[in-house]
Order: sequence, then structure tokens, then C-alpha cells
Amino acid sequence: MLKRVQMLIGGMWMEGFSGERALIHNPATGEPVAEVSIGGREEARMALEAAQRAFPEWASTSAETRAALLHQAAALMRERVEELSRWLTLEQGKPIRDSRKEILMAAEVFDYYAEEGKRIFGEWIPTGSQHIRSWVIRQPIGVAAVIAPWNYPVELLAWKIAPALAAGCTVVAKPASAAPIAASEMIRALHDAGLPPGTINLVLGPGRTVGAELVENPISRKIAFTGETETGRWIMEKAAHHIKRVSLELGGQSPMIVCRDADLEKAVAAAVRRAFSNMGQICISVNRIYVAEEIAEVFIKKFVERTRSLRIGNGLDPDVELGPMFSEEVRQKTRDHIADAVSKGARVLYGGHEPDGEEFARGYFFLPTVLVDVDHSMRVMREETFGPVAPIMRFRTIDEAIALANDSPYGLAAYVFTRDLTTAFHVAERLEAGGVGVNINDVTELQAPFGGWKESGLGRELGRWGLESYLELKHIRLAL
Ligand code: NAD
Repeated sequence: MLKRVQMLIGGMWMEGFSGERALIHNPATGEPVAEVSIGGREEARMALEAAQRAFPEWASTSAETRAALLHQAAALMRERVEELSRWLTLEQGKPIRDSRKEILMAAEVFDYYAEEGKRIFGEWIPTGSQHIRSWVIRQPIGVAAVIAPWNYPVELLAWKIAPALAAGCTVVAKPASAAPIAASEMIRALHDAGLPPGTINLVLGPGRTVGAELVENPISRKIAFTGETETGRWIMEKAAHHIKRVSLELGGQSPMIVCRDADLEKAVAAAVRRAFSNMGQICISVNRIYVAEEIAEVFIKKFVERTRSLRIGNGLDPDVELGPMFSEEVRQKTRDHIADAVSKGARVLYGGHEPDGEEFARGYFFLPTVLVDVDHSMRVMREETFGPVAPIMRFRTIDEAIALANDSPYGLAAYVFTRDLTTAFHVAERLEAGGVGVNINDVTELQAPFGGWKESGLGRELGRWGLESYLELKHIRLAL
């Protein structure tokens, strides 16, 4: 029995008008798991109109009431965590423990913004006259269109939907066409929690029609997007027409610098985890590793040993650490980047191809791959591979490493491993990135801003910054 995934428009679950459906396949086995309704521009328009109708009531609902509904949705997600995680692994491939983490994190995001929404404070402003009073209030922007990719299809939607709803915006959400199941179940939790019809809407279908309508239609006042830099560029151009607010979380090419005084065991474990988890399909993946010459031999040896020990398999197996890649398209890009690097002199120390064995024959499996003798002429060092490849390059001085790390159009995350406090500050303050991890391989913290410099994006999600981006300022001036 295939699961059916439908759209939610104006409080009603519905099929697309054409009746068209797409099959979602399990990337580990190739088996179909769900049938998804496909909409087009008309359904997207309907959803925007439903959100527009729902906006005045939701915007004037008290923060307490909004918070109670968001907490209820979070509770439902926790109650349904096993079911949601299973769908996430079945559609996306990631190991079940990572799916569980993603669902629980999304629930936490709803709880967090439920409370943060109660702290949308105003300000009292001193004026030039004793007969004039001035104050500033923050009000919801209006209808928010939120668009997410397939690599963290639940969490990245939650990062947008939760602050939008907490701010008093109504929402039309579009998950990635190829990974909409768990995301639609998260939206079901919001619906079941009792959100008024039209407050949260879900549309399904291709970016070039459904996504484009959400961006181009004047009803949406804010576009929150996570995805490729090229798509983000297009969205920014289109949004300019109506001067829409945009938040863009785009591609990355994150460097990790391992200094000669680093705790080697910790640095190796952190680098392996962040290079290969979710099969490298993470915007803040470690994509380039720069290691101090003095420790490079040992680092590389330990890195290869640890990589070799990773357990690959069907993500539903609780012991698996690496699942399949998401699609043949991303797997082929990984192969292309490795071939390009090898043609320019790189050596493959581990991986570089699919694992052998019957259990891997029908899925998009690929071995985590370690490259050495790399340089910046190679695509793997300049472009986003979005695959399980770790190129390792040696450096002589810290300033050389910083220059190499910054030699990129991207600036999402960067990492440095050192035991010296002065070096930690020196490097962290010079890296061109929206987030820097010092002796840690993740820059995500619910209360802190997440986002990119340069072509990695615009605006910030999470923390109070994530909420601000759904609010407009209004100055009210009163003559007594
Ligand atoms: P993508 O840009 O192809 O698609 C993302 C979403 O945009 C999908 O829902 C898609 O249907 C939609 N879309 C496509 N064209 C559109 C258009 N013209 N108008 C409106 N919507 C459109 O990205 P992807 O391949 O799904 O995701 C991988 C990319 O996401 C990688 O580049 C990765 O780095 C990036 N990403 C960034 C972050 C971050 O926080 N910076 C996080 C995760 C992923």
C-alpha cells in the first residue's frame, strides 16, 4: 500500500486539479513508498489566497494563543516521532537515528518560537518635543512563502514556519518535490493542533511552477528559501519586482583548518562526521580540510582508518551510520568531482566508487571518499559537491590556511581545530563565514543566528534573528 500525500489549502486536504501524482522511491532500495499529488500555479495561487484571507485573524490573535497552538503541534510531532522518522528515512535515505534527531529538533523549534513570539516587544522613543510621543511596534509582514530542499526536508521547513507563525504571518509551505512526505506530516501536526484554516497551507509540485508562483505572486510579502545558490539568485531577482522581503540560505563549501596543536583524535572524529554524515548532503558539510604540514601524515592515516570503519547500509537498520545518497543525480555529481580531481593529480586514498554487494545494488550508495594531493584548480575544492568527499590539503602557515579557506565564493560555515586560544581567535575572526566552529563541527544553535556570507545567502534564521525576519517595524508618532 503506497502512502498518499496531499496538499493542504484553506484547511482542506486535496489533490491537484490535474489529478497528476508522482511516485516517491526509497533511495536505499528503489522501491516506491508514496504517491504524491502534483499541483501547479493554480493550486499555489489558491493557497496564497487562503493564507491572505486567514491573515487578519491570525495576525490579531494573542501571542499566548499562538504559543499554545505551536506547543500543541510540537507535542503531536513528539508523539508521532517514530512514524515521522520512518517516513523521513524511507524518502530521503538518512539513518533512522538522524531522522529521529531531525524530527525532535523540528519540534523543539516550534516550542522555542512559541515562547519567543511572546517577546515581540515594542520600543519607546525620546522625541524633540514634550508634546510629541513616539513608539515603535513590530508587526507581521503578511503572507510568507517558505520553500525548502530535500536534504533536511523537515527541519529546514520548521526553521521558517515556526517563526513565521509565531510572528503572526500566515504561511504557504513548499517542500522539495522529491522529499515531501515527512514534511507533510509535520504540517498535519500543525493542522491537527487546531490552527485556523488557511493559516498553514501546503502545496506540492515543481519549483519552476508551484515555487515560481509563490515567489512571483504579489500576495506573498516574504520569501524564505533554502536551496541552491542559483535558485536563490533567481528568487532574489523575481522578488525585487515587488520589493519582497527575502531570506536565502544557499550553498556552501565549508573549510576546516586543523592546526598543528589540535587535539588530533577530536579533530579526526569531528572531520569524518561532518564530511560524511547525511552522505555529505549538508550545506555546512566539511568540504575542504587544510591540515598543518607537521601533523598531516598522522591526521590522514587516522582519517582514512575512521572512514573505513563507517557502517553503510539501509537507513532503517538502527546500526547504520551512512545511508544511500538521495538520488542518481547527486551521486553522479560526486563521481564527476572525483574524476575531475583525479584528472588533475589528486589521489584517492579510500572510496571513490559504490560499495560492493547485493544489498547495495539497487540504492544510490557510494563509499565515503578521501582525496589527497588536491589543489584549488579542482572542482571539489571550489564548487559544492554535496556528496561524501573529503579532500585534504596541507598548509605551512596559519595565514596561508586562512587565505585558502577564504578563497571561495561561498561563506556559510568554517571550522578550526586548535588548542591555542590566540590562534582560535586569530583564525575565527578572519574566516569569511556566517558561522565558525572552534573545536566543534557544527555551527547550528537554536538560539543563535544561522546563515551565510557572500553567495551562501542573505539574512539569518534561528534565534531572535529568525523571528525578526517575519516582522516589519512601525513608528507611531502622536501629538498630545
Ligand atoms: P533547489 O534549489 O533545487 O531546490 C530547493 C527548493 O526550491 C525545492 O523545494 C524546489 O522545488 C524549489 N525551487 C526550485 N526552483 C524554484 C523556483 N524557480 N522558484 C521557487 N522555488 C524553486 O535545491 P535542492 O537541490 O533541493 O537542495 C540542495 C541545495 O540546498 C544545496 O545547494 C545546499 O547547499 C542547499 N542548502 C542550503 C542550506 C543552508 O542553510 N544554507 C541548508 C540545506 C541545503
